[in-house]
Amino acid sequence: MSKNVYDKISIKGLEIFANHGVFPEENKLGQKFVINVALYVDTRSAGLTDDLEQSVNYGTVCHQINDFLTANTYKLIERCAEELATHLLVSNPLVQEIDVEIEKPGAPIGLPLETVSVKIHRAWHDVALALGSNMGDTKKYLDDAVQKIDKLKNTKVIKVADYITTKPYGGVEQDDFLNSAMLIRTLFTPNELLNELHKIENEAGRVRTIHWGPRTLDLDILLYDDLVMETNDLTIPHVELHLRDFVLKPLAQIAPWLRHPVYGETMAQMLAKLEL
Ligand code: AMP
Repeated sequence: MSKNVYDKISIKGLEIFANHGVFPEENKLGQKFVINVALYVDTRSAGLTDDLEQSVNYGTVCHQINDFLTANTYKLIERCAEELATHLLVSNPLVQEIDVEIEKPGAPIGLPLETVSVKIHRAWHDVALALGSNMGDTKKYLDDAVQKIDKLKNTKVIKVADYITTKPYGGVEQDDFLNSAMLIRTLFTPNELLNELHKIENEAGRVRTIHWGPRTLDLDILLYDDLVMETNDLTIPHVELHLRDFVLKPLAQIAPWLRHPVYGETMAQMLAKLEL
């Protein structure tokens, strides 16, 4: 899921009078904030057609910033930046990534200073998930999971593979599985997303008893952009992705071109190797 290199639309020095701050006087009296934003967008088609609809209207974005920062009051400029970045990414579908910088030149610290600021970078992430169930109404467990994932905050389902019936893996005697894979876009970090998936598994009555044992619902993160990470809780890409045909088959159906960031092969190539 290699990231594109986007073009950049910059808004610099937008002044907003708002009430953010830790001190009650700041919330009551208000002060000047200066906002710098970079919108990462593919401007190629706007560049070729001269059509504003093909790009992001920076005037509209300035008003969105003003309206958002005057309608809400936060203590921290970290929070202002976080919430504003999310609001702008969600409100402007062509924006893939964003830098938000919030300056507070009048910060009441009892010393003269030019300005103080927080700058963050946020982006939509392209994620591939695996779904599996082998207890009860397996189709309903998968259908419900897809719906719940689509309803997660700042997350959108892009594509879901056909459900396939597969034989259990790992040597435990149990019923056949129903498996699928899906592509989503999300603003969650990998760990936040894993937490959300665990909540959905728990709501499906998932009990973790035997390893490789039967389960109402299993949700795994297969790929997250082209991130490679390994912690106690999370290995991305999923450590067995390249070994499991019940994962590769559905994923290769919806995204055969996706490339494994460690092994360098596409999902279609990895599946072909397994099927040899
Ligand atoms: P499982 O029995 O497959 O549901 O294993 C779940 C545990 O594996 C979770 O509690 C995670 O902490 C851990 N894990 C490691 N890497 C991943 C991943 N890529 N996706 C989901 N769970 C993972």
